[in-house]
Amino acid sequence: MNIHEYQAKGLLRAAGVPVSDGRVVLRAEEAKTAAGELDGPLWVVKAQIHAGGRGKGSFKEASAGEKGGVRLAKSVAEAEEHAKQMLGRTLVTHQTGPAGKQVNRIYIEDGSDIERELYLALLVDRQTSRISFVVSTEGGMDIEEVAAKTPEKILSFSVDPATGIQGFHGRRVAFALGLSGKQVKQCVDLVGKLYRFFVQRDAEMVEINPLIVTTGGDLKCLDAKMGFDSNALYRQSDILALRDETEEDPKELAASKFDLNYIALDGEIGCMVNGAGLAMATMDIIKLYGSEPANFLDVGGGATKEKVTEAFKIITSDPNVKGILVNIFGGIMRCDIIAEGVIAAVKEVGLQVPLVVRLEGTNVDIGKQIINDSGLNVIAADNLSDAAEKIVSAVK
Ligand code: GDP
Ligand code: MG
Repeated sequence: MNIHEYQAKGLLRAAGVPVSDGRVVLRAEEAKTAAGELDGPLWVVKAQIHAGGRGKGSFKEASAGEKGGVRLAKSVAEAEEHAKQMLGRTLVTHQTGPAGKQVNRIYIEDGSDIERELYLALLVDRQTSRISFVVSTEGGMDIEEVAAKTPEKILSFSVDPATGIQGFHGRRVAFALGLSGKQVKQCVDLVGKLYRFFVQRDAEMVEINPLIVTTGGDLKCLDAKMGFDSNALYRQSDILALRDETEEDPKELAASKFDLNYIALDGEIGCMVNGAGLAMATMDIIKLYGSEPANFLDVGGGATKEKVTEAFKIITSDPNVKGILVNIFGGIMRCDIIAEGVIAAVKEVGLQVPLVVRLEGTNVDIGKQIINDSGLNVIAADNLSDAAEKIVSAVK
């Protein structure tokens, strides 16, 4: 689960990490008061969406020369003006895709004077099975671009969980960032606090870009992006409360309500599969036969008829879906349950596109019988490659 920048900064502030003072604004009328509560003489007005690259992004239907989603203001009136201009509009950045995201919240922050912009992130490194710090002197820029063009400017250090975070980790980060004097001590403090925060709050990713050195020579987190492990949210109720469902893909949101493992993708073949491994294999084989999956969907081992119906509805609500492939290996899951769910769903939402069903395993004969008796226009398949070939040719 991801959260907004202002929420992430609230968590950082509570953890004793240096961030600027700021106010969140939901309605244009609140902007003036919010900006007035900050000291100035510089204000930063920041669109809050779950995507980076806001500064370099642009609004849809922008007037000539209009700035992006992060703007500096020299007065309360100017800050108010920017906030009013941004609220309710759609911001497009390299992370939102061409559709962009609607801006429903604005964060107005006390502006900082910047000496240097640095990059600091914490993530779970699957290679070492440890939490790693990723650091670069090239902060404020798109880190993917730095990685592509000058990979030697990105360094990473992992922390051994047996010893935990130590002073030398912080000094190593400070050295890599070219810090000196009091900044080294501040960096050791920051690195320790971020690491402990990461572990205690079950974070998956914490990205500070930029971490700045102010003109006064102090470290400060100027931007913050955070993601948390969804499977741990049951024990992080205050973080769960920060969830903003309007930022989530509506199909993924509906799926999460029914405990379906669903990820929306860009392709044209909707997949309904049981088991994550089989779902991955199904996506692969769709690609092998020359098409692209519209989603990853694992209905799970113990899916009910209702769950299958819901899954089918979510797949068909995607306008990109030109065909559907149901691929079920009935181990714990029974094929007749799947068949009943598919038929119930088709009766409810109709079937506008070709549907290929491959069933195997427990009660497969009953499942096939149910589908045959339904009178629906379903293409039966015998195995995985047969199924993929049939759906891809039905779509083409
Ligand atoms: P992003 O574009 O979504 O990553 O948003 P950021 O919060 O990283 O802001 C983008 C850029 O705006 C930063 O890299 C800074 O150069 C600039 N910026 C943000 N806050 C301040 C500030 O307080 N003072 C100044 N001078 N620049 C800022
Ligand atoms: Mg940033």
